[in-house]
Amino acid sequence: MMVNGIGEDGGNMARRGRPKSDNPRSFTVPEVRLTREEIRMFKLKAGFFGGSTAALIRRAVESFTPQLQENVCCGEAMEVVNTEESYPFSVGDENYMVTVKNIPVWRCRKCGEIEVDLMLLAAVEEVVTEEFEQMLLNRKNIPGETVLDFNELLHTGAPQTASV
Ligand SMILES: [Zn+2]
Repeated sequence: MMVNGIGEDGGNMARRGRPKSDNPRSFTVPEVRLTREEIRMFKLKAGFFGGSTAALIRRAVESFTPQLQENVCCGEAMEVVNTEESYPFSVGDENYMVTVKNIPVWRCRKCGEIEVDLMLLAAVEEVVTEEFEQMLLNRKNIPGETVLDFNELLHTGAPQTASV
């Protein structure tokens, strides 16, 4: 995969609440259409954060512990197991591999069939590409192989990278 557009950021989007220097690369979540009842809930809950919808969203997403929804194979509920995926990148003549371990997937208890959540994998690939671009920006020497932990990527702290 060729990495293009290094250094691209939120561009000219308006930023509120945080000084630019505090968060040099910022992104905007997509606009969400809500029902009247949902916006009522949203406003009241944001009231607990000084009316800041941004603070509410940050807190809610950080607190949320995701898990795969139930899935069925052979007439029975599948179990969730962890797998890993590797993503190759090339920059000029250099090749790199970034592996994400502990990605949850379904496995059938009977036949062993593995079923992945394609949207989740697409999100992982997007995030890994972003992490790799960040490594390019921050470090002079990127190891040929890097391992990231899915569970760490779920939080806002910097993920530990292990080179192998
Ligand atoms: Zn099965």
